[in-house]
Amino acid sequence: MATYVKVPFSTNRIAVVAFPNKCVYCELPAETKVVQPVEGQSHYEDNRGRFVTKSYSTKVTIPFCKTHMKESERNNTILKAINILAGLGAFPIVLFLAPLLGSAGDNFILLVGALFLAIMIGVGLVWIITLPLKYLVSLFVHSLKDQTGLGFLGSGVLGVKIKFTPKKDALLFRFVNAKIASDFSSLNGVK
Ligand SMILES: [Zn+2]
Repeated sequence: MATYVKVPFSTNRIAVVAFPNKCVYCELPAETKVVQPVEGQSHYEDNRGRFVTKSYSTKVTIPFCKTHMKESERNNTILKAINILAGLGAFPIVLFLAPLLGSAGDNFILLVGALFLAIMIGVGLVWIITLPLKYLVSLFVHSLKDQTGLGFLGSGVLGVKIKFTPKKDALLFRFVNAKIASDFSSLNGVK
């Protein structure tokens, strides 16, 4: 069962987090480290009524045993391949919908609407094709379900998912290994 740990930022959104010197996935002594970028965005309206998007990013260094670092890299390669396959599968269907764009003629609003629709259908299709593919592969590659994805072609890691809290005042860690989560909480003085 996954366990969540929240580490609040001390100053200036600098996350000073300490990991136990063990593989984050299997608890064996750490042999290597993986630097994982963490990104977040917040959208709000400023006092002049303009919509503003603010981006946040930080990096967290995660300890691994060599076996699980390799497994983490392999899982990323598999997930990227699945996403590319899904993209290739969705492409002809979106192309088939292209006449929609043609029928919009020179009406700019209709053309933008049709283009938007085609993109939405494309994204939806990629998502629909990805799900069963991931499920099928995870029947053979069991640790795939413990891999945390980051965007369409971004890389995740095995065993821990890290994101900003909605208020962007802390980092939220989701651990697959409950013992590591407990050690991590003690080390960072949080519950
Ligand atoms: Zn390990």
